[in-house]
Amino acid sequence: MSASRGVVVAIDGPAGTGKSTVSRGLATELGARYLDTGAMYRLVTLAVLRAGADPADPAAVAAVDTPITVGDDPNDSRAYLAGEDVSAEIRGDAVTRAVSAVSAVPAVRERLVAMQRALAHRPGGVVVEGRDIGTVVLPDADLKIFLTASAEIRARRRNDQNVTGGLGDDYEGVLADVRRRDDLDSTRATSPLRAAEDAVVVDTGEMTQAEVIAHLRGLAERCSEAVR
Ligand code: C5P
Repeated sequence: MSASRGVVVAIDGPAGTGKSTVSRGLATELGARYLDTGAMYRLVTLAVLRAGADPADPAAVAAVDTPITVGDDPNDSRAYLAGEDVSAEIRGDAVTRAVSAVSAVPAVRERLVAMQRALAHRPGGVVVEGRDIGTVVLPDADLKIFLTASAEIRARRRNDQNVTGGLGDDYEGVLADVRRRDDLDSTRATSPLRAAEDAVVVDTGEMTQAEVIAHLRGLAERCSEAVR
């Protein structure tokens, strides 16, 4: 990288590690753009569901080609399906249940990875969050982070968010969903979830989100100084 281009940070890890909040916070502090690749898989999943296609049928999933758009401002990253703002709907239960199956389809991954690379390579620094950013999408990223935390801690955090957001209190159900998605995401044939060999692994279990952001900011700043 060059100092004028800005630092390219890849942040991977499973659901419930605080990845989105941390990635947005880091991008804001670095004055960088932010790319939520999970939102892109969720958009395609919503398109599949709206088209009435079976998420478990790879050919039917691959045939759905509704245009998707995501914003790259860390403080306003809305998601659009064919121009409609569906930022809330892509976080709903129906999409969350089907997204692992849709994101396992190679044709979907090829299409989205190409879009992600094009967006990441625009001028300026960028924080890109997902599951395969350091391993597949941006193997040349300046800094690769892999966030972890135990399944129990991640389920507790997500359930607390649900309670706060009025979505009900179901820790056991959330824990089962966290484990199911971990299993599907880490065992799929195409781009399974794993840390890149040169990723910095950060266990967020005993850290606040502010502490994680401060830690990553320090790593990003050292990384941009090193190449100046
Ligand atoms: O990050 P988020 O939980 O919104 O991601 C939703 C789903 O999208 C994940 O469970 C995973 O199946 C898929 N995903 C992926 N590769 C990425 C980002 C997300 O397969 N880079």
